Amino acid sequence: MKEIKRFHEAASQLADTAARIRRTGRKIIGYPCSYAPEELIHAAGCHPMRLFSSGHGIVQAENHLQSYCCSVVRGILEDSLAGRLDFLDGTMFPHTCDSMQRLSDIWRMNGAYEFFADLALPAKLNTPNSAVYMESVLARCKADLETALKISITDADLAASIALFNRIRTHLSTIHDFYSRHPGQIRGSDMNALVKGAMIMDRDEAAALLADVAASLRHMPVPDTPVTRVVLSGSVCDIPDLFDAVEAAGGAVVGDDLCTGQRWFDGQVAEDQPPLTALANRYRERVICPSKHAGLTTRADHLISLVNKTRAHGVLFVMLKFCDPHAFDYPYLKECLDAKGIRSMALEMDEGYRNQGQFSTRIETFIHML
Ligand code: SF4
Ligand code: SF4
Repeated sequence: MKEIKRFHEAASQLADTAARIRRTGRKIIGYPCSYAPEELIHAAGCHPMRLFSSGHGIVQAENHLQSYCCSVVRGILEDSLAGRLDFLDGTMFPHTCDSMQRLSDIWRMNGAYEFFADLALPAKLNTPNSAVYMESVLARCKADLETALKISITDADLAASIALFNRIRTHLSTIHDFYSRHPGQIRGSDMNALVKGAMIMDRDEAAALLADVAASLRHMPVPDTPVTRVVLSGSVCDIPDLFDAVEAAGGAVVGDDLCTGQRWFDGQVAEDQPPLTALANRYRERVICPSKHAGLTTRADHLISLVNKTRAHGVLFVMLKFCDPHAFDYPYLKECLDAKGIRSMALEMDEGYRNQGQFSTRIETFIHML
C-alpha cells in the first residue's frame, strides 16, 4: 500500500522529512519519550518529532554516558553529538526513568539547540494531588514555549491540536483493530512503521494517510490461515525484524504494551474539558509504563486484560539491555501471568538489533511452545 510506504520513508529518510517540515517555516522540537505533550508543541506552531536512535555505532556518547545505559538513550545522544539532529530547534525531556533524566542533564549542558525544556512530571499518578501537579507542569511547559517563541498559545490553538492528535489516535486504533482481529491483513513491521512514522512526520499528513489506510483495510480480503497470537510488552520497540521473525515462525503480534505502540495511541484527550486539564488527565489515565506508578498491580492487570481481549496465546517481553525500569517490573509481571496460566518469554536485545540466527530460533521455539 503506497500510503504505508510513506510512513516507512518518513522515518528512514529523517533529514528529508525534517527539511520538508522546515520549508513550511515551522520549528522542530524533538522529544525522546511518549510522556512529552506533543499537542502543546504543535499548538505552539512547531513540529513535534519523536527521537529514535539511528542505530549508528556509539563513539562520542561514550564520553558522556556509561556503557550500561540503554541503547535508546545512548543512541539519541550519539545522533545529536554527531550532528545527525542538527535540524532540531529544541528538545523536550519528560522526567521518567533515571537514564532519561541523566540524558536530559547531559543534553542541556552539551546541546546546541535554541530551546530546551525539562518536564518534571509526577511519578505517582493515582492521587488527587498528581492531577494538580500534572496540570501545573503542563502550564509551565506552555509558558516556557510562549516565552521562547514569543507567541501566545490560546485554548483554541490547543483544542485544535488535541482534535488532530485524537484523529491520529482514532485511525491508528481502527487500523490496529483490523491488525489484531485479522492477523496477516497487515504485516507487523508495517503496523510498527505506521506508529513510528506518525510520531515523526507532519501530523496533518499522517492523519490523512492513516484515514486512507483504515478505509482500504475495510475492503481487503481477510486471511484465514491460523496463527499463534502473541502480545509484546516492553519499552521502545524499533526492531521491525522482530515482527518478521514472529510471522516467519507462524505467529502474529496481536497486541502490545509498548510506548511505540498501543500505550501511545490508546485513549483520547477529552475535547469537552479545558484543554490543559484534559491533557493532564490523559497523561494520568493512559496505560502506564514502569517509570510511573498508578497502583501495585496496574501493569499486570492491564497486560492480562490485553491477553484476554486479543485472545493471545502468550506474551513476549522485549527487554532492551540495561533498561532497569522494565527489568525490575519483569519478575512481578511474569509471576502474575504464570498465576493465570499465560505463557511468556523474555527476549533481551538492543534497539539496533537486527535479525540474527539466535534471535529467530528463540522466537520460533517460543511460538511452537505456545
Ligand atoms: S518506557 Fe516509559 S520512560 Fe521509557 S521511553 Fe517509553 S514512555 Fe518513556
Ligand atoms: S525506560 Fe528503559 S528503554 Fe526507555 S529510556 Fe528508560 S532505560 Fe531506556
